[in-house]
Amino acid sequence: MKVLLLGSGGREHALAWKLSQSPRLTRLWCAPGNPGTAKLATNVPVKADAPDEVVALARRESVDLVVVGPEAPLVAGVADALAQAGIPCFGPVAGAALIEGSKAFAKEIMAEAGVPTAAFRTFTDAAEAEAYAVEQGRIVVKADGLAAGKGVIVAHDVDAAREAVRAVAAMGASGQRMVLEELLEGEEVSAMALCDGERYVMLPLSQDHKRVGDGDTGPNTGGMGAYSPAPFLDDEQLAQVGESVIAPTLAVLRRRGLPFKGVLYAGLMLTRSGPKVLEFNARFGDPETQVLMMQLGEDLLPLVDACARGQLVERRLAVAPGSSVGVVVAAGGYPDAPRKGQRIDGLDAVPSDATVFIAGAEEQGGALVTSGGRVLTVCARGEDLAQARARAYAAMAAVRFEGMHFRHDIGAKGLKATP
Ligand code: AMP
Repeated sequence: MKVLLLGSGGREHALAWKLSQSPRLTRLWCAPGNPGTAKLATNVPVKADAPDEVVALARRESVDLVVVGPEAPLVAGVADALAQAGIPCFGPVAGAALIEGSKAFAKEIMAEAGVPTAAFRTFTDAAEAEAYAVEQGRIVVKADGLAAGKGVIVAHDVDAAREAVRAVAAMGASGQRMVLEELLEGEEVSAMALCDGERYVMLPLSQDHKRVGDGDTGPNTGGMGAYSPAPFLDDEQLAQVGESVIAPTLAVLRRRGLPFKGVLYAGLMLTRSGPKVLEFNARFGDPETQVLMMQLGEDLLPLVDACARGQLVERRLAVAPGSSVGVVVAAGGYPDAPRKGQRIDGLDAVPSDATVFIAGAEEQGGALVTSGGRVLTVCARGEDLAQARARAYAAMAAVRFEGMHFRHDIGAKGLKATP
């Protein structure tokens, strides 16, 4: 099979790494890709979120399947354009991807599907929202539109609640419509399913680390590290998440003429009254994908191909024994103002029991330099979480660039919860 992978992050390097192990793969292109995917695929300088260019490339190379990594191409209608051109695509059409882009749409779908989530109300009037927030006291305020991870404020008292509504209302377009919801407490985990529009298979449970600093301190980021499996749900409970969250959501989207083909990602809060959905994403998580690809015990290509063609067979996926941990190495100044152009050294000294996935880095004059906020993910597998973690951090010692920083506690919550 000839496959075109869209995106340029650590997630795409990990997907390329896993796809390239498939005996069914004959050629792999990546658009636009990064120096990591360049070692496994042919990078093509085509913008992933330009539907016409993606279709033209897919036609020119007669690709059998397009796999979409990030959200932007989905929102731009790349899956819609490929469907029109008759090219199978792993990634939902724009109307279905709205489940990530619009929190109000996501809540509407959840309500119709009976998916457990925080109680909520949607407001278009800031004064009304403020009155409600003050009445509630403890509340979460979310801008309806995409706000680059900055559109959610968790308020623990009345003053904070008032401030939160004002801050979101001041965000401009994305804050004109806001969702106010019940403040939930519990462990946060990522449950992802590969979906063919109707059927699905669950990937193992993982946990991301959103805050920049150790102990979940400092500002939010795109994700500073992940591990899998997260020990908070057993296989049976994960299967129940499939039945109570994924299946009814797929059914509602299909009824609306929006069959969801791709990764349906449920961000869950494991509350005392069971798992509740905080958010949906319409694609693989980053950095969760890096560890999921290391844990997946079977060929990814037939799975995503079956999803794209609507021919998935529901079953439990084979998962490798043990655990995987991925630690993100970020550029100095991340997440506010990452410093670019710093030379990255030591990757050739990383021990063979670790794998480095490249994200915000580019080649300049034969050297690898930083070009984004999250630069690399250093990943390792182990017989258990403790060993995977030790290997990932040992490998980290080899990596060097000016200003680099990373969290030292990736997987700590999982270790604490492991008997
Ligand atoms: P979201 O983009 O909706 O996932 O929200 C970003 C972050 O805000 C989540 O990862 C949670 O840490 C937090 N959050 C969102 N909704 C809630 C809620 N209802 N209760 C408590 N925390 C929340």
